[in-house]
Amino acid sequence: MTMNTVGRPTRPDAAAEAAAAPASLTGGRGLLQDEPLIFERGGWGKTGVDLPAPAHDAADLAGFVRDEVALPGLSEPETLRHYVRLSQKNHAIDLALYPLGSCTMKHNPRLNEKAARMAGFADLHPLQPAATVQGALELMDRLAHWLKTLTGMPAVALSPKAGAHGELCGLLCIKAAHEAAGQGQRRTVLVPTSAHGTNPATAAFVGYSVAEIAQTDDGRVDLADLAAKLGPDVAAIMVTNPNTCGLFERDIMEIARLAHEAGAYFYCDGANFNAIVGRVKPGDLGVDAMHINLHKTFSTPHGGGGPGAGPVVLSEALAPFAPAPWVVAGADGFQLAEQPAGEAAQAFGRMCAFHGQMGMFVRAYAYMLSHGADGLRQVAEDAVLNANYIKARLSGALTPAFPDGPCMHEALFDDAWLEGTGVTTLDFAKAMIDEGFHPMTMYFPLVVHGAMLIEPTETESLRELDRFCDALLALAQAAKAGDAERFKAAPVLAPMRRLDETLAARKPKLAWRPEAETG
Ligand SMILES: *Cc1c(COP(=O)(O)O)cnc(C)c1O
Repeated sequence: MTMNTVGRPTRPDAAAEAAAAPASLTGGRGLLQDEPLIFERGGWGKTGVDLPAPAHDAADLAGFVRDEVALPGLSEPETLRHYVRLSQKNHAIDLALYPLGSCTMKHNPRLNEKAARMAGFADLHPLQPAATVQGALELMDRLAHWLKTLTGMPAVALSPKAGAHGELCGLLCIKAAHEAAGQGQRRTVLVPTSAHGTNPATAAFVGYSVAEIAQTDDGRVDLADLAAKLGPDVAAIMVTNPNTCGLFERDIMEIARLAHEAGAYFYCDGANFNAIVGRVKPGDLGVDAMHINLHKTFSTPHGGGGPGAGPVVLSEALAPFAPAPWVVAGADGFQLAEQPAGEAAQAFGRMCAFHGQMGMFVRAYAYMLSHGADGLRQVAEDAVLNANYIKARLSGALTPAFPDGPCMHEALFDDAWLEGTGVTTLDFAKAMIDEGFHPMTMYFPLVVHGAMLIEPTETESLRELDRFCDALLALAQAAKAGDAERFKAAPVLAPMRRLDETLAARKPKLAWRPEAETG
């Protein structure tokens, strides 16, 4: 008999269960329904709504006939059940801890969702006259105020739609500033070896060449290497702080000083702002530009790649080059500065149509107000405390990549402890799925062998942290006891087994076709 953590029997004997493992007759699995793709359900011609017959028919279309559009026809309950069934096949932040390091997967408070759905925010159109959207513009202005206050920076561009988009915005500001100063020959961006892939990708996208800055044995930027690589060709450095090893760059002010002395700008990747919000102002550290992933630090949903928001705060030197539009408060209320004139004369252009993701602005602002200044500081403190709790509990069994001293908001382990077990980081992560946990970030940062990067965020209670650590410790014990089979086969209990992720990434099927057509 398998007992759960409070000693209540959960399942019959695991071995007996595995031997019996009856395949169901229908493909269902207990409470998990088998569910085809919505297109496979067919029902063309059927509709879930009743509309009156149109007054005109096909005969009025002068011979033009619309083809079958082949949209699946489902009733309202069928539609609902389809999506609920799909949602049960995947992990969700409302189900359990989401330990993805570098992603800051925190609880999305329902209060924020409620605010974002208020008609005064949700039912606006971006082309409405400014006079009719004063409340929305005021909210953007206040959000901008708090982002500037929390970062100690004088300006912010709200329109970028993700962290990576924010990086692009920041580098375009830097490029414009160099060109305005006759420094267009600066064509190189320096990036540490532990950087997130978006940093070098963004620099290359802007047309810069990328050079790597070495890392010290204790996981920080190598100052000597940085100093050696800075020169008249360097446009900017891109440094994450706390960095992707979960460590605070303790020489951050020296890093900024060296960059400025060499005429380069300091772009700070602010994805890890959650660890220091309310405690440290990046402006005080010499940062010139930094994106803030609202879906990380300020709890807006990550949502399958969008809709995101990645505002960029800017220093005095870069502020004039910020992209349009931005909110200006005047005698007639709030307006958007859209045209390259007046204070926006040097704007490098714009990042997107309109002003950014209103729904995310509302959620992030609601999060700030509901926490207050003291609450936001507590967010950073609890996120760091939780990560250190995990580091402390797991360090006996797993090998921390940087054992000396505490970590910031994420705990990083390497795979040295798996040596000789026949189990890899990937196998271990897959086995976590069978235990009901989403894997941590794997094989990133690249500088740590077989990296396992765990970020609990402040969302998790002591009880949840213990549940998670207990599961990992039990798995670690199984791996060390030589039960490699369990890991090689995993996941066995998930709706999908191990997938060919390379094939999926290299040859994605992006459109559904009936089986008959794909052959
Ligand atoms: C998440 C992340 C990014 C990219 O942010 P997106 O919002 O996903 O585009 C960049 N750098 C680091 C360190 C990150 O963790």
